[in-house]
Amino acid sequence: MDHLLNADLHCHSVFSDGTLAPEVLARRAQANGVGLWALTDHDEISGLDQALSSARAIGLPCLTGVEISVTFAGVTVHIVGLGFDHRHPPLIEGLRRTRAGREQRARDMGADLERAGIRGAFDGAMKYVDNPDLISRTHFARYIVEAGYCSDTHEVFRKYLAEGKPGYVPHRWASLGDAVGWINGAGGVAVIAHPARYALGINGEYALFSEFKAHGGLGVEVVTSAHSVPEVARYADMCREFGLLASRGSDFHCPQESRCDLGSLPDLPGSVTPIWAELRARAD
Ligand code: AMP
Ligand code: MN
Ligand code: MN
Ligand code: MN
Repeated sequence: MDHLLNADLHCHSVFSDGTLAPEVLARRAQANGVGLWALTDHDEISGLDQALSSARAIGLPCLTGVEISVTFAGVTVHIVGLGFDHRHPPLIEGLRRTRAGREQRARDMGADLERAGIRGAFDGAMKYVDNPDLISRTHFARYIVEAGYCSDTHEVFRKYLAEGKPGYVPHRWASLGDAVGWINGAGGVAVIAHPARYALGINGEYALFSEFKAHGGLGVEVVTSAHSVPEVARYADMCREFGLLASRGSDFHCPQESRCDLGSLPDLPGSVTPIWAELRARAD
């Protein structure tokens, strides 16, 4: 029964690279039948007070959340944190440090894109940024579409912003141990976000799962908009193999860009234990 809960524990607001305010997301989640919701902005928790109060006002069950950028074996990996105390000072400070390099990175991206023939990218991206602490590649992608260089944001990533492309600037994010430690230290649970998206290879993926578990990580996103049906089955197997709990989240950013709306995901497979069982046990 609990497998069928319409939990959506991964999405973004204007506090990172989403286009909707937390309050609008809360209403959209409820309208779409979400039964447990979390806002997980990139490296940022300033939107959580709004998310929690908006959800409370409409009777939508809501957890605190964040999606932390991590560098693991030279690859960027995202770790979602859920159900933590968002006033915990070491978490706040760790996230502040994780965000700190984003402005310089964005300036370097602007310069590289200029050389690749895209004019005014830094200033153009900034027009889409609500939170000056959180300039993301997504903001560049929106500008590059607006300026007519590409027809959608996915094409921008493919041609300009994915690793190895002209506008990609390598960046060192938090370590895996730090990210999991900040989340656990604040009383939350850590989850590997969209595992199928990482170019780690089989051995690298096993290393990620083992080290994540050794650091005290608890969950894996099994159902996410980034996963195909075989990938859902594969990560359900990985959950059982590593003794991890399963999470579910749309990674919704924007009605025009996201392939999957809030709350519009397949159910968790019956073979895994949902992470919300653990979160509820803690809440009792
Ligand atoms: P950043 O944290 O600045 O490196 O930006 C990462 C964000 O870019 C992700 O959270 C996604 O929102 C977006 N992104 C990454 N790859 C793609 C892609 N292939 N298509 C569309 N958006 C992407
Ligand atoms: Mn994003
Ligand atoms: Mn992500
Ligand atoms: Mn995300």
